[in-house]
Amino acid sequence: MRPIRVWAMLLGIAKAVVEAVEVDDQGAVVVSVRPRRSERNRCGRCRRRAPRYDAGEGRRRWRALDVGLSSAYIEAEAPRVTCPTHGVVVAAVPWARHDARFTRTFEDQVAWLAANASKSAVAQLMLVTWRTVGGIVRRVVAEARTRTDPFATLRRIGIDEVSWRKGKKYLTVVLDHDTGRLIWAAAGADEKTLEAFFDLLGEERCAQIALVSADGASWISNVVRRRCPQAHQCTDPFHVVQWATDALDEVRREVWNAARRNKQVALAKSLKGARWVLWRNPENLTERQTARLEEIAQTNQPLYLAYLLKEQLRLVFQLPTDEAIALLGNWVTWAQASGLKPFVKLAATIVTYQQRIEAGLLHGLSNARVESLNTKIRLIIRRGFGFHDAKAVTALAMLSLGGFCPPLPGRA
Ligand SMILES: [Zn+2]
Repeated sequence: MRPIRVWAMLLGIAKAVVEAVEVDDQGAVVVSVRPRRSERNRCGRCRRRAPRYDAGEGRRRWRALDVGLSSAYIEAEAPRVTCPTHGVVVAAVPWARHDARFTRTFEDQVAWLAANASKSAVAQLMLVTWRTVGGIVRRVVAEARTRTDPFATLRRIGIDEVSWRKGKKYLTVVLDHDTGRLIWAAAGADEKTLEAFFDLLGEERCAQIALVSADGASWISNVVRRRCPQAHQCTDPFHVVQWATDALDEVRREVWNAARRNKQVALAKSLKGARWVLWRNPENLTERQTARLEEIAQTNQPLYLAYLLKEQLRLVFQLPTDEAIALLGNWVTWAQASGLKPFVKLAATIVTYQQRIEAGLLHGLSNARVESLNTKIRLIIRRGFGFHDAKAVTALAMLSLGGFCPPLPGRA
């Protein structure tokens, strides 16, 4: 193999001719190339052939994966073409995505790392800022979306809203209950945002949706009723358990405030710290936390009762359907009799949504899967806090949970 071909191999350059290789004054390897004849004069956006417009801004560099200990760049002309659809636009190059300052393999590696490694690992290893990672992830996911249709076999979906930017802004997310994948996410949490999803889905595929689960928000159920009138609407088990956790927290705060008012300093202090013990699933408690819970059971009847009510409701979604529906009915009676205001109120809410909750149970919605996906979505979205726009945040979520993560370059 001629040395010049070795460079093409090392940098993963296909469909291009290597003209020269040099080391610049920063010690970086710069490989000058030109696209093969068949790859020249194509629109950067649609890759269709288009007549050349001008030379553009001359030669350009794209950062490539490092070669050994040196950083590396590909350098080439960047002429412009006139596309019948997209007008005057920089010509496509086979080694990079449109509008990117990095090669395709560099971007694929960054995307893979964004889904699999810590933020600081990505930034340090690849020498890019986290914001730049956001732009790369957007390009990678946008391209992957044109290749695969995540909506092809949708039957049972879940719709939810998730906050980002510390609760000030919301995203709407849609997941596929059958594959456990995130299939769509967008900024906003209102009817207009959700309509955009169903527009993408199209009438034919809307008609195939058998079940939609959500948290009971009216903006979701209104749109679903309009766009998928045949679908069974049900309430996500995840949210029902969340309601109970919120009610429990309300009881804890009431008890805590009462203790403070009565100057029971030690009690108030211990209740403030009890939050995590009460929130966690009992199977995840440490020995010390279990001891703490037992202490609450002995010293604080209302709070312990609230805890048991939360746990009992969580149990509903772990039982076989018949038992689950029976227990749900019993739970409502028990909560009504508890005398705890937040739980009496929750019992009323559950009666309102009882049909929808039972529909979820009858359709075998797995709470474990919904809960784990919801937890993952929230974690990923928190990772996206450093990105400056919602599109990058949703792209990161799709990359990690939508099956759009590219393989590491050269390992496919
Ligand atoms: Zn075009």
